[in-house]
Amino acid sequence: MSGENTRRLALVTGGGRGIGRAIAREFGKRGFDVAVNYNSSAAAAEELCAEISQAGPGVSARAFKADVSKPEEVKALFKSIEDTMGTVRVLVNNAGITRDNLLMRMKEEEWGAVMAANLNSAFYCTKEAIRGMVKARWGRIVFISSVVGLIGNAGQANYCAAKAGLIGFARSVAREYASKGVTSNVVAPGFIETDMTSVLSENVRSAMMQQIPAGRFGCPEDIARAVCFLASDESDYLTGQVLAIDGGMTMC
Ligand code: NAP
Repeated sequence: MSGENTRRLALVTGGGRGIGRAIAREFGKRGFDVAVNYNSSAAAAEELCAEISQAGPGVSARAFKADVSKPEEVKALFKSIEDTMGTVRVLVNNAGITRDNLLMRMKEEEWGAVMAANLNSAFYCTKEAIRGMVKARWGRIVFISSVVGLIGNAGQANYCAAKAGLIGFARSVAREYASKGVTSNVVAPGFIETDMTSVLSENVRSAMMQQIPAGRFGCPEDIARAVCFLASDESDYLTGQVLAIDGGMTMC
């Protein structure tokens, strides 16, 4: 990647673990400054920031605690980042949780918690980030959705609704801000090996594997490389798109 991205600041929500961690690390490798948001994984986020700062010449990385499902914490997060690192040029809305249940048994709390962490968080963070991007006439927003946001999944009505909601939101942002140099795209991962999928049974895993033409589960780095492309100058004319990274599982 060209040196043009040097000194651009990327914020990754939920960057301490899993896919977010790989994205933050990849940004550091490519010369971005990185703000790593975490909620409960403080030690992991701090350790990652030390690693990124040591690896990249002149690259700065800092960890910021915030529960991004809460609007007041998101406001405080952006203020802390602005005060210490500068204006966010790249936002990756990655934070997410699952609370799986069949619809007949799904509690309102399970619905609400998943909406808050996966969808509301993206609204709060994007709203905070957009002004600085418009002012700079350059910005990149990437939403981490899921292939189940495209095709649905039994037992995950809340999660699928939130992930599908991200797509509509991302495309609306794309339409509002394309003329201001801000792109807004969605990455829809398939089955990626992280803590989130480690709880699934061997039966579920082998049923999933049957549906993946590539014959392997994804790793966080598969997602990180695509996110970095969407955050680069190379994707300048690409906005409002959904990129499924799933080893060929969905092809829709
Ligand atoms: P993970 O290993 O469970 O990590 C989830 C991350 O989200 C953690 O860093 C966690 O931070 C953060 N997070 C959750 N709620 C938060 C909140 N309220 N505020 C701030 N951070 C919060 O999951 P993952 O597999 O890396 O998933 C990352 C994203 O990819 C999620 O949006 C997920 O839905 C999506 N995705 C994953 C897969 C997959 O197969 N793994 C597939 C499709 C989509 P703390 O640990 O600091 O609390």
